[in-house]
Amino acid sequence: MKVVIIEDSELIRNQLVRIISSQPRVHVVGVTGEEEAAVQMILELKPDTVLLDLSLSPGSGLRVLKRIRAAKCASRVLVLTNNADEAIKKQCHAEGISGFFDKSTEAEICLQQLFDWLPPLPANEQLRLQTLRETGLLDVPEQEAFDDIAKLARDIAGTPMALVTLVDQDRQWFLSNQGLPVRETSRSIAFCAHTIQSSEVLEVPDAHTDPRFADNPLVRGDPNIRYYAGVPLVLASGEALGTLCVLDTVRRKLSETQLSSLKTLAHSVVGEIELRRKMLKLEQEVDRRRAAEIQIAHIAMRDVLTQLPNRAALMDRLDQLLRKVARSATQMAFLFVDLDRYKLINDTLGHEMGDAALVEVSNRLMMALRDSDTVARLGGDEFAVLLPEIGSLQAAMAVAAKLNAALGEPSLIRGSRLHFSASIGIAMVPEHGNTVEQIMRHADLAMYQAKHAGGGTAVAFSQTMGARAMDLLALENDLRDALQRDEIIAYYQPQVMLGHAGLCGAEALARWSHPQLGVLGPDKFIGFAETRGFIHQIGQRMLEQAMAQMVMWDARGIYVPRVAVNVSAVELREGYADFVDSALKRHGLAPERLELEITESTLAADNSIAVRVLEILRRKGISIAVDDFGVGYSSLGQLRRMPIDTLKIDKCFVDEVTTNVQDAAIVSAVVTMARSLGLRTMAEGAEDHAHVEALKRLGCDCVQGYVWSKPLPPEEFALWTLAYIRDSNHEDLTTQY
Ligand code: C2E
Ligand code: CA
Ligand code: CA
Repeated sequence: MKVVIIEDSELIRNQLVRIISSQPRVHVVGVTGEEEAAVQMILELKPDTVLLDLSLSPGSGLRVLKRIRAAKCASRVLVLTNNADEAIKKQCHAEGISGFFDKSTEAEICLQQLFDWLPPLPANEQLRLQTLRETGLLDVPEQEAFDDIAKLARDIAGTPMALVTLVDQDRQWFLSNQGLPVRETSRSIAFCAHTIQSSEVLEVPDAHTDPRFADNPLVRGDPNIRYYAGVPLVLASGEALGTLCVLDTVRRKLSETQLSSLKTLAHSVVGEIELRRKMLKLEQEVDRRRAAEIQIAHIAMRDVLTQLPNRAALMDRLDQLLRKVARSATQMAFLFVDLDRYKLINDTLGHEMGDAALVEVSNRLMMALRDSDTVARLGGDEFAVLLPEIGSLQAAMAVAAKLNAALGEPSLIRGSRLHFSASIGIAMVPEHGNTVEQIMRHADLAMYQAKHAGGGTAVAFSQTMGARAMDLLALENDLRDALQRDEIIAYYQPQVMLGHAGLCGAEALARWSHPQLGVLGPDKFIGFAETRGFIHQIGQRMLEQAMAQMVMWDARGIYVPRVAVNVSAVELREGYADFVDSALKRHGLAPERLELEITESTLAADNSIAVRVLEILRRKGISIAVDDFGVGYSSLGQLRRMPIDTLKIDKCFVDEVTTNVQDAAIVSAVVTMARSLGLRTMAEGAEDHAHVEALKRLGCDCVQGYVWSKPLPPEEFALWTLAYIRDSNHEDLTTQY
């Protein structure tokens, strides 16, 4: 309810405002103590109620009253005074006031009257308002559907006015207003605010005689309502949102038929409202999902740290641009930007600092480029730049130099003065390639050359760049994928006993089942993997496969006494023994069935951690073999203190063991010493039976070599083993060892 207070005593004014403010549904919209201002204020604000002091200075309250009534203002007026002159009272009543109160004693009663005019609130008001908002029908332009119904209602009732109303928190909003020029009125004077109290029709045959409405401004003044009949719009869920009502300026009554027709119409209004609400909800749900999708797409295409496009986004964009270039015969440059010495920042200053540095770098790259260029973060300290509108390689080189200059500017990051440089590889489209894969690989290769040149510089790809360097680069990327895709697999080579023929084990040897290049030997990737940190993963994969394989062979009755797995020196660190131990337990394989091969140099080097790890493994029952024995410089005496079980005599001694007396003598000495130390001997690389005979004579325990078989894939190894047992009639030996 909107209230204007006309009172010249500041004290009383303040009191009234304070008390009224305690009622949340009543709002004081204007306050003044002067006649002229009062009239203007009332006519302009059209309040529901005026609290009027009769004695104003300057001016007169009575005159205010007369003037506003003359101007057709029908607001309710409560008069406050302290000299109750009967003549003046009479004049006031003649102007249609709602009450006359003694300021000093009856102010409270006066305000109570004001509050009593507030229509009651439905019990479910909160929910009702929420549902009302969900219809999305407040403050919308005229709707034909509702207008049609209102017109029909007006025709049926034969009244000049019909409305479809929605009762909002402080107002009623007319969804349709037939015969009434306004689209909303205050809730405090709304008939409909009473109608929504129940699910019944509210009919007011004569408002003049109804105490609830007799002094209602809509009754006393425009539009001079005298008759009202409203049907509440009750949703299926129970909320009465508004009404369908008909109004007249004369008193009357509707027939039962007319009333029931109104109810039917109200029903279709409700149906329409429910439909709108459902559609709005659906629309919002669609919007919400679309926003979520956009968000997800954004995340998928962005690097989280720098907010730059990520690798996927870059490849996407590159692909698009490649198509465009192909059509337009223009040029484009792709720059592979790799920060120099970034690892140093990360390692010495910490990861937070490292992250901050990457953000800084990404900002600088962006600042140095045009809007049409693309900067992306490929991962780690690798960035890429796409220059779609570049005229020549020289121009691309100039941009690269500009980028390095931008990176070289010193800046303060979290209190540290840092500056950067990058090795930049450039590939031009179409000169250096026309597929995403080619362009990225060639730029990467060129970047590698820039690194070699000492960093801080750019190098363009050229076809003459060594194929070897290219292989290496390709390898690193490929190997990462290979591990992901489980392309590193184990082949097995048999190890055969000499004294009493039989299988003593198999060595698991790594192979890379490359999707394009076929099966690659370990010389293509093991050394590389050792320097790039991949060897741990490879070693673990090999162990897992070997153990799983043994269990499978066991299950098929193919008894392989022991499997030997190669272990690089770098793998022998804290925690390795635990890993092996738990893997054995997981596969359910006895420790005696596993041998680990380490090179002689691993032991010879002053590597106390490795030795300690080997001791733990051996104590658990796992065999340790020294691989390539004889090529290192460890003396047999040193071996005495080492935690080992087997010596693998290197192939170079075996090659000429039949012809070279000295080699034969070395093998003999090794065998003798090994026996005295309680070690087993295994000769590697025997290629023919002459080798086998010589080694047998020299007292070697086992022989591994092409003479028996090359390393084989698991299934072929199984077949080989079965054939070997059958051919040599050694069925008994499969379980003998
Ligand atoms: P290694 O441990 O000395 O393995 C023996 C190598 O000699 C194998 O080569 C095997 O195929 C080869 N060989 C066996 N018998 C003969 C023969 O009669 N004649 C000839 N010419 N060669 C024979 P491969 O499989 O190419 O392995 C090479 C090396 O790669 C291995 O030498 C080992 O040092 C390393 N390696 C292989 N698999 C792994 C692994 O899983 N982990 C680690 N760390 N290294 C591995
Ligand atoms: Ca080996
Ligand atoms: Ca070897």
